[in-house]
Amino acid sequence: MKTIGLLGGMSWQSTAHYYRLLNQGINNQLGGLHSAKIVMVSIDFHFLENLMRSGDWSSCADHLTDAARKIEAGGADMLLICTNTMHKVAEEIAATVQIPLLHIADATAANIKKSKLRCIGLLGTRFTMEEDFYRGRLSAKHGLEVVIPEAPDRKIIDDVIFDELCQGIVSDTSRLEYLHIIGKMQAQGAEGIIAGCTEIGMLVTQDHTPTPLFDTTVIHVDAAIRFALTGNP
Ligand code: GLU
Repeated sequence: MKTIGLLGGMSWQSTAHYYRLLNQGINNQLGGLHSAKIVMVSIDFHFLENLMRSGDWSSCADHLTDAARKIEAGGADMLLICTNTMHKVAEEIAATVQIPLLHIADATAANIKKSKLRCIGLLGTRFTMEEDFYRGRLSAKHGLEVVIPEAPDRKIIDDVIFDELCQGIVSDTSRLEYLHIIGKMQAQGAEGIIAGCTEIGMLVTQDHTPTPLFDTTVIHVDAAIRFALTGNP
């Protein structure tokens, strides 16, 4: 079994889900007392969030490439950045290590294409929804048409991520707001929705909506388990 490298702490709330899901997934496949082989570096999100908010992405990249090198030195065979947003600096991180980076947007796009959907709604931080590193990759590399919420709704989605979910707060009111926004995106043509922030699965799951929901945390974990057990990314 290959060793899974996690670049976590963004936030620790979702990294805890990665840890549990990876171990459960490996145990489901191998049984007994089997569990995942994991090397993790978990960063202080307060520090990184300040850099992100001030637009200092180059310091974010420096900090995360340093963490990625530690993960590789710790014996990991692959690297997962446990957040969609920080894939903004994925290229810099991938270039600093020899082990493969399992890109969260590529794993998600592969799932969407398997479901034969073409037009997809994207929920995530404002960086993920608005900037090209994520939506652009979905459309240019994977041929998907991407719908995002209107500006006031993007603010609601982003505020709930940072003010609630990253702090472990899961609110019924926010869930209703998310579901309302998902309904509007469907009206704009979205055939499914990407939960493009690793905390969104704490708030909205497939049980809450008939619209096909692509939970990036679950998809990323599944890709890592497949790679760990088969050697194929
Ligand atoms: N975990 C989140 C994501 O998947 C948001 C927190 C962050 O900015 O890293 O984008």
